[in-house]
Amino acid sequence: MRFSSTRGEPLGLRLSEAVLRGLAPDGGLYVPDVWPSLAIGDFDGCATLAEVGARLIAPFAAGDRLDSLVADITADAFNFEAPLVSVSAAEGDGEMHVLELFHGPTAAFKDFGARFLAASFQRLRSPSDPIVNILVATSGDTGGAVAAAFHRRPGMAVTVLFPKGLVSPTQERQLTCWGDNVRSFAVAGTFDDCQRMVKEAFVDAQLNTAMSLSSANSINLGRLLPQAAYYASTSLQYWRRHARKLNFIIPSGNLGNAVACIWARHIGLPIGRVVLAHNANRTVVDYLQTGEWSPRRSVATVASAMDVGHPSNMERLRALHPDIEVLRGAVTAESVDDERIATRIRSDRRRFGQIWCPHTAVAAEVWATMDERSRRGLPWCIVATASPAKFPEIVEPLIDSSITVPPALAELLQRPTQVESLEPSLAALRTALLSARQ
Ligand SMILES: *Cc1c(COP(=O)(O)O)cnc(C)c1O
Repeated sequence: MRFSSTRGEPLGLRLSEAVLRGLAPDGGLYVPDVWPSLAIGDFDGCATLAEVGARLIAPFAAGDRLDSLVADITADAFNFEAPLVSVSAAEGDGEMHVLELFHGPTAAFKDFGARFLAASFQRLRSPSDPIVNILVATSGDTGGAVAAAFHRRPGMAVTVLFPKGLVSPTQERQLTCWGDNVRSFAVAGTFDDCQRMVKEAFVDAQLNTAMSLSSANSINLGRLLPQAAYYASTSLQYWRRHARKLNFIIPSGNLGNAVACIWARHIGLPIGRVVLAHNANRTVVDYLQTGEWSPRRSVATVASAMDVGHPSNMERLRALHPDIEVLRGAVTAESVDDERIATRIRSDRRRFGQIWCPHTAVAAEVWATMDERSRRGLPWCIVATASPAKFPEIVEPLIDSSITVPPALAELLQRPTQVESLEPSLAALRTALLSARQ
């Protein structure tokens, strides 16, 4: 299997090279040159998420040094469950299931990709290599998942930059509770400043001579492929029981989670419709409607991990379906504003006893308001991307009670925090990184 950029000439890279590089040199995203195809029977004997994931990812690693490591990596990365929970809707209201992707260390789906990437980096590095320093700029969820995934892994260090005062108190604690090989910096600036500093650091000669820098960006294949594993495992589980395809509604921002689902279906898994559930950032919804791609600045919503105005993974979707009509057949998209998110959180608590996080509520709202024929006629799965306990500031006032924090998250939120302050400049970041090496 070889990989090339969505933008340019064939590059013919192997999986490990694409994972180590992250982004293609022309700024494009890595996609496979030729698609593998798997039959449902190919997964016979795969019982756990780790086994399904290894089977699914194996063809992508064919001919690469990751090939012999994949089973070990998925076993390391997927050490928690992705349960499919049925919600009993009213008689005749249709079949609704919830895929809970929040049982990992930081209670959001990004744990799957971050842990797979960390497990891969660890095995691709040889003991004599210098320490790999992962630099992340974060506006919330990503930094925590990456820090957790790399925490205490030998040969690796993480530097997290976040905008001071611009992440929620719960998020800030998840970014600063690690210590050991993780350093967290509160930058006196915005998320864009953090991102700019990281980009500048990657091309800074002085830093790159002194240390080995790497990224754990969400567009990395090493974060995307493992996300296809839970769609494979869930759809197979449903197929084996009911001989029907399961249909997914996915809370979406940068489209990494959704592309993983669409790739899984493309390879041959029994997945029916895929609906992209966006918040008020409606770039994708408008594109499918008008055929005009017009990325724009993001607007702030209560589902902030989905506040993306220029979703990078659209490039992968368009590479797979260059014809807009074909793309319209492959996915549909809806946009839900903050008011509907709030109302949905309130009403589904009463109706189903379910407490959604603000992102998951977007998908729940799309399910509740879709045309009746589709809702009743097809089995639907709402993808729960995070635990509501990560967003108590938003959810608790809506349901007018407190949320029980899952034990793993509670443990994490109790740890002592360590944070350093940083001016929003490359010079400041350089000094901080270099001084730590003495
Ligand atoms: C990142 C995130 C999303 C959006 O996922 P994409 O892959 O960027 O589309 C949705 N919900 C939560 C909780 C997230 O952290």
